[in-house]
Amino acid sequence: MSKSPDVQRMEKIVSLCKRRGFIFQSSEIYGGLNGLWDYGPLGVELKRNLKNYWWRVMVHERDDVVGMDGSILMNRAVWKASGHEDTFSDPMVDCRSCKARLRVDQVIERKGVRQCPNCGGKDLTEPRPFNLMFKTYVGATEDESSVTYLRPETAQSIFVQFKNVLEVSRKKLPFGIAQIGKAFRNEINPRNFTFRSREFEQMELEYFCRAEEGMKFLDYWLEERLKFYENIGISREKLRAREVPDEERAFYSKGTYDIEYDFPFGQQELEGVAYRTDYDLSQHQNASRKSLEYFERSIFGRRSAR
Ligand SMILES: [Zn+2]
Repeated sequence: MSKSPDVQRMEKIVSLCKRRGFIFQSSEIYGGLNGLWDYGPLGVELKRNLKNYWWRVMVHERDDVVGMDGSILMNRAVWKASGHEDTFSDPMVDCRSCKARLRVDQVIERKGVRQCPNCGGKDLTEPRPFNLMFKTYVGATEDESSVTYLRPETAQSIFVQFKNVLEVSRKKLPFGIAQIGKAFRNEINPRNFTFRSREFEQMELEYFCRAEEGMKFLDYWLEERLKFYENIGISREKLRAREVPDEERAFYSKGTYDIEYDFPFGQQELEGVAYRTDYDLSQHQNASRKSLEYFERSIFGRRSAR
């Protein structure tokens, strides 16, 4: 069977990236490690240009955004409060015939019978959750009390430092905190070159506002982000702002858009723009018992918002 033009195009991109020194497979001389990549001499410049441009337009050119740079390892309590320890997982199924571990959505169903896409076997386990966070230990003892995780997203350090950043930056609502940094996810099936990797860098902005302005800023940021991609040379025809329907959206979000790009391997999410309500700050306020409330003195008296 000949390969589809899209698959051929993807293979061309991957080999070009290697030949020109953009991206190499991690630990290549030892056979590599799946889902991990090293950026070569040109790749590191490209990536740095992109990060610098993002930082310039999202932080330096704005009065309402400040930056921070949080640690990758954090107190385990953060991941309990955020819900990651309990729910940041994909339901997985094992094939007893070929031992493949599959995400539930990869299992084929024919006439009500579940089948392994690898070997066609029908002897599959029931789905069970597989946590995507890399577990590690802090300090000399490897027991339950020293467990933490490599962060699976950069957002949580922004939320837990909200009060400190607010106080030192003397910002008033609405204002945002931006961060660029590494994040890690133990993907079961890393694929599509660097698109689904186990270690990657995120550029993240959390923008804090009053509840009544949430939906307005959702639309505002969607447009800002689409403009960003246009400004780095991606045409709007290749982009799609997909409104995530109620049943797919996180329960705390009142509105979410996925900005998708037309990749050779299909329409895939480049970034999400979501109104997350006060869910994150409330979770950390309740779990830490430290106030993360926002107070403002005005001639109308004291108003509070989270
Ligand atoms: Zn199988």
